[in-house]
Amino acid sequence: MHCEVLTLFPEIIQSAAAQSIMKRAQDKGLLTLSVHNLRDFTDDLHRTADDTPYGGGGGMVMKAEPIFRAIEFLLEKQGNLRIMMPSPQGIRFSQGLARELSRESRTLVFICGHYEGIDERIRTGISVEEISIGDYVVTGGELPALVMMDAAMRLIPGVLGDPHSAEKESFVESLLDFPHYTRPFELRGFAVPDILVSGNHEAVRRWRRKESIRMTLMKRPDLLQPETMEKDDQQLLEEITQEYASTCSTTPKRRKEGMPS
Ligand code: SAM
Repeated sequence: MHCEVLTLFPEIIQSAAAQSIMKRAQDKGLLTLSVHNLRDFTDDLHRTADDTPYGGGGGMVMKAEPIFRAIEFLLEKQGNLRIMMPSPQGIRFSQGLARELSRESRTLVFICGHYEGIDERIRTGISVEEISIGDYVVTGGELPALVMMDAAMRLIPGVLGDPHSAEKESFVESLLDFPHYTRPFELRGFAVPDILVSGNHEAVRRWRRKESIRMTLMKRPDLLQPETMEKDDQQLLEEITQEYASTCSTTPKRRKEGMPS
């Protein structure tokens, strides 16, 4: 995956990309990431990349010309580009889009807005995809760009330590992830479900699948599509709905009295 980020705040991207799995992906050569300061594409003494809005009002607007120049520079350097502009007005980012980006052969370009946003002539003058990370407004496009790059690059085969972990997590197959536990077995009166220490791999697999369905039913029922589910999953869903009458709690069994609930 090849990414080019255009921003007024390169350090935001560079510091996050120098950590954890994003760093590992770059070290392994599975992700290349270049960050460009849009001020490098200005031509005045003060490297002006933003200005006051026409029509008045508060705030600053990012100038179009440095962005046009940066895109022309990348077109010359990389050729085939997929240009994205994080924006609260864009289509909603999703796991499906993350997967698509992880397989993209074109260079991914992220134009990060800041302040009031970017001069509209970028959106109308270049073929850009506006992508939103949700119905709220953050200060700049840097964090949304990082969210998108992170979600996509971790799906590239070889990036994650366990090659199967991305296959089993939330939103794959429209299901949420199952609950995870680690040592100690018992903590503050809460114990790990016995089945996870039974050594019975098939029983653990079935439990995880069932809890995945249960989590989705409890937290995001809109994701469940019973009619398209495999027969085994429909059976598990049926079991859960029957259990629901007696208990709908999935919290671990309590072993001590007197703990707050
Ligand atoms: N005036 C803009 C509006 O109301 O639509 C908001 C500008 S915002 C403060 C500055 C920049 O942050 C945007 O240009 C965009 O790059 C980024 N941004 C803010 N919220 C976002 C979101 N939910 N998804 C993606 N990008 C976002």
